[in-house]
Amino acid sequence: MFKNLTRRETLLGLGAIAISAFAPARARAVTIARLGAREIISFSDGIVSVPAGLVARDRAAEELAATLRAGGFPADVNRMPLNVTAIRDGDSLMFMDCGAGARFLEGSGKLAAALEEAGIDRAKVNRVLFTHAHADHLWGAMDEFDEPLFPNARWAIPLAERDFWMDKNVLQKLPEAFHMMAAGAQRVIGQLGDRLETFRPGEEVAPGVSALDTGGHTPGHVSFELRSGSESLIVLGDALTHPLVSFAHPGWMPASDQEGERAVATRRKLLDRLASEKLRVIGYHLPGAGAGQVERKDSAFRFIPA
Ligand SMILES: [Zn+2]
Repeated sequence: MFKNLTRRETLLGLGAIAISAFAPARARAVTIARLGAREIISFSDGIVSVPAGLVARDRAAEELAATLRAGGFPADVNRMPLNVTAIRDGDSLMFMDCGAGARFLEGSGKLAAALEEAGIDRAKVNRVLFTHAHADHLWGAMDEFDEPLFPNARWAIPLAERDFWMDKNVLQKLPEAFHMMAAGAQRVIGQLGDRLETFRPGEEVAPGVSALDTGGHTPGHVSFELRSGSESLIVLGDALTHPLVSFAHPGWMPASDQEGERAVATRRKLLDRLASEKLRVIGYHLPGAGAGQVERKDSAFRFIPA
């Protein structure tokens, strides 16, 4: 848990709500797909509970609550799973994002336990790619002793993302509610130091893995496209975060999207492609282990869990 949460931070979703009794359980490590010789595994970093109002900051509370209720979701609390995707390819094990670590919200920071339970030797993880530098994706990179969770890995983050957060004037570019995110990003990126490389959207960042520009949630946010022959699977990061609202109302603006208009444009374009090409997706905050597909519904879309 954070110490000294301000009310604004609480409103932005950094504050936990003491309702987690109904959080659906999932296995901590699940094989969710195979792509050629590669095994795609989803590890759970836990589940956090944040105010449901954060799902759409640009909607009236009653409209959002009614939409959530009609879709079978609680109108007061949003229980968000944290799904960390890994790719096993022979001896190579690569992670996409790293969980929240010990300093974020109650319910998160369980990746290390999930790895241990699955018998994963952390020293054998050779690569980590970040979608963006928000706390729940980045802070788990360092363990409770401030040592890298994966001691022998090469790490990489989008160049635009690193540059945004490491700018010495970053606080002036952000509302106060994001200042703790910025402090954490600077801390962890600084601790990773020379171990952290950068890449740009469009680059092949690992064999069969390319970075897609899905900016808007953060300035440098990317998703990853995994390909094998004609098969493709997209690791979304936070381009689509809510199983109902992100799909049925892609124009609504989550409080966690730093560039609202750009995030909306990104979502519309991405959803159109995902539905047209019937691609498999894995969402960091989508339910279960985050895997599913996208279908068109009425004038928008819906998420079909795998
Ligand atoms: Zn997230």
